[in-house]
Amino acid sequence: MKMAISLPPTKRAESHREKNSYHLRQRKLTVKTMATLEVHQIPCLSDNYGYLIHDPETGVTATIDTPEVAPVNAALAEKGWELTHILNTHHHFDHAGGNLELKKQWNCLIVGSRDDADRIPGIDVKVGDRDTYQFGGHEALVFDVSGHTIGHIAYYFPDAEKLFCGDALFALGCGRLFEGSPAQMWTSLQKLAALPDATGVYCAHEYTQANAAFALSVEPQNNDLQQRSREIDDLRARGLPTVPSSIGLEKATNPFLRPMSKDLQANLNLQGADLVEVFAETRRRKDSF
Ligand code: ZN
Ligand code: FE
Repeated sequence: MKMAISLPPTKRAESHREKNSYHLRQRKLTVKTMATLEVHQIPCLSDNYGYLIHDPETGVTATIDTPEVAPVNAALAEKGWELTHILNTHHHFDHAGGNLELKKQWNCLIVGSRDDADRIPGIDVKVGDRDTYQFGGHEALVFDVSGHTIGHIAYYFPDAEKLFCGDALFALGCGRLFEGSPAQMWTSLQKLAALPDATGVYCAHEYTQANAAFALSVEPQNNDLQQRSREIDDLRARGLPTVPSSIGLEKATNPFLRPMSKDLQANLNLQGADLVEVFAETRRRKDSF
């Protein structure tokens, strides 16, 4: 999406005279500019992150999930935004628990998975894999990323290069398999791994430091992981979030996206094994880490 920038008349006049004009340079710059989708991160409960996303051009504001009501309302007040949408990733209470109260208060539209509609309180719009949902001036591409739950979805905004993935993919981790199979989760994670490296990964929990300890236990040879782990320790020591991360960083360091790693396979005694098997063993070990 392009941002409409109207130039003052003097600059516009100059641009007609000068070849390498401000106007032309500005236009060129405009085309490259990432569409503005403002994100406001909200720490909730003990380790959840809620997110407000806001399109300044149309004024729409969504909360990604509803882990809590009061912090979401406080964030809305702080930003001066009015809640128009709830975009749910899955039905768990720390993601949809505040749906009905927020809907009652704001009369907002609730978007959620078609395949989990019965468990999304107050759902209005049902979406599924590869559907697009128009949020103000931005298009969200929906992925079914079942595994943690059946009907878990993620919202990807290509023009803003942002992914909201709930409890499917975490920084250095992935969601526990409460309902889906390892094969299903691996299929889901591959959809996210296929996104551009620069995509911001906005996951729903601050689990990164514990995830790093596990990741190092299964792939200690990974230099990128070692470095990232040090950076995470530093951020946490200063009380700062480690989220968002990026798809590129996750592909380089997250063991759940790396079943093809020869080191990881060797450390699990699964050299040359099927990738689903490697993923499943990694997940099993994390469950009892
Ligand atoms: Zn969950
Ligand atoms: Fe959760």
